Parts: sequence; C-alpha cells; structure tokens
Amino acid sequence: MTQKIEPQPGILDIAPYQGGASKVAGVSDVVKLSSNENPYGPGDAAIKAYRDASHNLHRYPSTDHAELRAAIAEVHGLEADRIICGVGSDEILTLLAQAYAGPGDEVLFTEHGFGLYKINAQAVGAIPVEVAERERITDVEALIGAMTERTRLVFIANPNNPTGTMIGANEVARLADSLPPKALLVLDGAYAEYVEGHDGGAGLIDSRENVVMTRTFSKIYGLGGLRIGWGYGPAHVIDVLNRIRGPFNLSSGALAAATAAVRDRDHVQKSRRENTRLRAWLAEALAELGVPSDSSCGNFLLARFASEEEAIACDLYLKSQGLIVRPVGSYKLPHCLRITIGDESSCRRIAHAVGQFKGGAR
Ligand SMILES: *Cc1c(COP(=O)(O)O)cnc(C)c1O
Repeated sequence: MTQKIEPQPGILDIAPYQGGASKVAGVSDVVKLSSNENPYGPGDAAIKAYRDASHNLHRYPSTDHAELRAAIAEVHGLEADRIICGVGSDEILTLLAQAYAGPGDEVLFTEHGFGLYKINAQAVGAIPVEVAERERITDVEALIGAMTERTRLVFIANPNNPTGTMIGANEVARLADSLPPKALLVLDGAYAEYVEGHDGGAGLIDSRENVVMTRTFSKIYGLGGLRIGWGYGPAHVIDVLNRIRGPFNLSSGALAAATAAVRDRDHVQKSRRENTRLRAWLAEALAELGVPSDSSCGNFLLARFASEEEAIACDLYLKSQGLIVRPVGSYKLPHCLRITIGDESSCRRIAHAVGQFKGGAR
C-alpha cells in the first residue's frame, strides 16, 4: 500500500485562484469584462518590440533585466538598482511571502483584498489574517490594531481590487509608521497608473526601510498575456528577492515589449483618459438604473445589487447577452459584480443590458 505524501503545511488549505471567465456556451459575440484588461490592448510600440524580439529567440534572455529596469527608472524617476522585475507582479508578491514569512508568522490583508495575498501566506505556511474594511475602504486603524510582533507582511492594494476604492498618501504613511519591527508593508499598485499623478507610494519608500511597492504591465499597459510586473523597495529587500528569483524568469519577448511599453506614455495617457471618461459615464448610467457603486479609482466598477440573488440573476442575464463580468462572492461581496471598463460600445452594452434586466426583460 502506498501512503499519500503530504505537502508543506497550509498548502491543502488553499482555495485555488479563479481567473475571470472568457467564454459563454452558445454565445459568439462575447465581451470579456472580467479581468480588468485594457480594452485597447498593448500599444503599437510594445507590439513591434515583441515582434522584433522573435528574431533572437535562440538566445537566453537577460538575467538582470538592466534595460527594462533602466527604462522604468527613467520614466518613474526611481533608482534602477532598487527595481526587480517578475513574471507579473504576482511573482513579486509570491517572492515577498517566500522570503519574509513562514510557519507561525502573520500576514495581514484586508477583508476585500486581492485573493493572492491569502494564497501566498498559506503557501508558505504563514497565518493569513484578514482585517475588516470600513464600507469597502481599507481601514488603517483596523490594520494597525491587528498588527502583532508576529506580523511579517501587510498587503494592501491602493487602489484596491475589487472595490476600486483607495486611501490617501497620509493614511498610507501612517500605516507605514505603525509597522511592528519585523513587518514589511507591501503597496500593490496594479492600478496606480489609472490615478493621474499617483506614484503608487514610491515617495514613501525612499524614506523608509520597510515599504515595498509592486506594479504591473498587465493592466493599463495591456500586456497581461505576457506576464510582466515589477517591484520597488529598499536595497536590502530587493537584494533578498533577487537571491530567490529564477535567473531567467522573464522571456526576451516580454522584456522587449515591456521596455517599449513603459516609454510609450501616449498609450498610457490615452488609456487612462478613456477609462476616466467611460468609468464616469457607466457609473452614472448604472446609478440611474438603481445600481450604485463606490467612486472607483481603477479600470472597473464594483456594481452593488440589492441582494446576492439579484447579482447572480443579473450576471446570468449579462452572460446571455454575451457580457462577461466578475462575480465577487469569493471577495465577500456576493451582492456585487465587478465590471471592467471596456471600450465605449462595451460600456453602452453593459448599461443597456442592466437596464433590460432591471426592467424585467429576463
Ligand atoms: C491584476 C492585479 C495584479 C496584477 O497581477 P499580474 O501578476 O501583474 O498580472 C496584482 N494585484 C492586483 C490587486 C490586481 O488586481
């Protein structure tokens, strides 16, 4: 008889991450608004760089990502030596958990925080600690109250996904100033580019030894399929992460595309402008139909329904119309649907379909 071999503690407690759906059986003209992707895709410069890189696919990629780090540093006014690039910001978040948390350690994140924080904590056998939000907004007081001497990591997304809400720089600074001695604050800036003038917390990092920021090419840059993200932090943290990072974690095509993308500020600006305009339009259209949402700082809206039943029924109706949005029951928001801001026609289709649903056309 063979005995089942057990994995490390915590791993079997993990509820696997669910990605956004992309298909509806029997419906061909679908619009995917379930993964906060940029509806305009990547910019032309990124596509060209990716194509050009195809001529050198026999070569191993750079291990130090020097060109990409230099481009990021130049565009954002950061120190290239304190940037680390990863397979999506997911990899940076995972490396942080691997490096800084283990059995008996506590990892804090907020009630409606991004699902990966908990998975990362469990994967390293640490104790996931979920902290209440205040009306779907990160509650700094509650986070400070939950900190102990066993706290090693505090993850917040700002703006947060799936709520779309964000807290101000003063509050983030207060959180950083309240960290216990062994804890790192991780500022997940996946949606930072959607907020005009927001540095994702970079300014805070330069004056502290215990704050790290993660960023991604998956959202406003439209490169989710290539898997590229980066982190910025104190030199000692970046050094630690580089020791455990795979030497060839990013492919040459991904590096080339990201290097071109970060310099293509027109594409970022255009994407942000359209998102801001259409987000305001859709939020108002839905509110008029009796579906409110918090004022969102990301490229999505968290639409609130009267009940879980109504949210499920609306999701089904939207699907029947070829519109795929994201139910967020796993984020403790069963009465809500997260809707990515698509292009103009997608936003109009959403507003129209929710209107039909609310009008009883089911
Ligand atoms: C989409 C998202 C990410 C990005 O993940 P990648 O691995 O960079 O694609 C990170 N954090 C949050 C909160 C997100 O919504």
